[in-house]
Amino acid sequence: MQTLATPTTTSNNTFNQPNIDTTIKRRKTRPVKVGDVTIGGSSPVVVQSMINEDTLDIDASVAAIRRLHEIGCEIVRVTVPSIAHAKALAEIKQKLIKTYRDVPLVADIHHNGMKIALEVAKHIEKVRINPGLYVFEKPDANRTEYTSAEFDEIGDKIRETLEPLVISLRDQGKAMRIGVNHGSLAERMLFTYGDTPEGMVESALEFIRICESLDFRNIVISMKASRVPVMLAAYRLMAKRMDDLGMDYPLHLGVTEAGDGEYGRIKSTAGIATLLAEGIGDTIRVSLTEAPEKEIPVCYSILQALGMRKTMVEYVACPSCGRTLFNLEEVLHKVREATKHLTGLDIAVMGCIVNGPGEMADADYGYVGKNPGYISLYRGREEIKKVPEDRGVKELINLIKADGRWVDP
Ligand code: SF4
Repeated sequence: MQTLATPTTTSNNTFNQPNIDTTIKRRKTRPVKVGDVTIGGSSPVVVQSMINEDTLDIDASVAAIRRLHEIGCEIVRVTVPSIAHAKALAEIKQKLIKTYRDVPLVADIHHNGMKIALEVAKHIEKVRINPGLYVFEKPDANRTEYTSAEFDEIGDKIRETLEPLVISLRDQGKAMRIGVNHGSLAERMLFTYGDTPEGMVESALEFIRICESLDFRNIVISMKASRVPVMLAAYRLMAKRMDDLGMDYPLHLGVTEAGDGEYGRIKSTAGIATLLAEGIGDTIRVSLTEAPEKEIPVCYSILQALGMRKTMVEYVACPSCGRTLFNLEEVLHKVREATKHLTGLDIAVMGCIVNGPGEMADADYGYVGKNPGYISLYRGREEIKKVPEDRGVKELINLIKADGRWVDP
């Protein structure tokens, strides 16, 4: 386990209690390079998303990748359903470098995609394969069992098919994601382990062992499911099995088909944040049935809320109650509008001085209701001055400026 570089504040220990370390201890993983981005090791949790464009449309794909990268998506995934799509990636890469900059790309390979994978591996940094589909055997409705000989026979076929890709990625210093999906487990895994997290884990381990036998370890693993409890169980079991086996591959977290709107965000957060809080996970993707640009703020909010990355101002605000001395919602909105570009600061807006100052959670600045018509400004826990409410936001800005912590938007 390692400690994050960005600790949660434990100073201002007014009550002389021993400082409790509130940082999340991440499972120790090996660093896997994907272009100029590193997944795992001591790197912050990496944010990913995926474009919807057809990669045969070079200009639209380049524009979509750029749009995502500019708002903070650090690795962009594309899908390559055919050799022509895979070849188009060469052009997309060149155009990105010429008109914008190099962006780490991952290509998704589907059914029996060995040739496609070999082609696309020449042009991008990482290939994602789904063990349930990479060597695809059509399910047989009349089958009642899978003998171990049949199981091994397909295992041999998988090895044969995977080897050239592993060797290509290994020799180029590129990466692979072994992306298991609960919804697309291979039939032989379903027969042997059932539709279970264990079946998902065994699917991944079979592919990992082939990679390791060829001395290839630039591997990231995912265990996605659309049901949060299944996804949680699969990732936890994978992390445990890897620990037991002495494997330290980073994990890519996601809840598939999370849907859209508020529930899609909550569902994704329930899965991703729960695991991150347990120290599991090195890269995340929130999958929404919305424009991919909408996924990035959700990823950053999850990471910020857990104190794992700080990409915006952290606002602490009380829910308001009978003691509240001003319109809290309105004031919070005004304070946010004035200060939201000051990444790195924690600002509290609290309704009253009875509980406000004590509950500001060690914010850098506080805006607290003092008495009717007046608010008090705080620096940390120190009350700096009382000002009329209508000058509150302006005086808060002046205070931040006087401390040299203001930058113009
Ligand atoms: S800080 Fe004051 S106004 Fe806000 S909820 Fe607590 S008691 Fe109520």
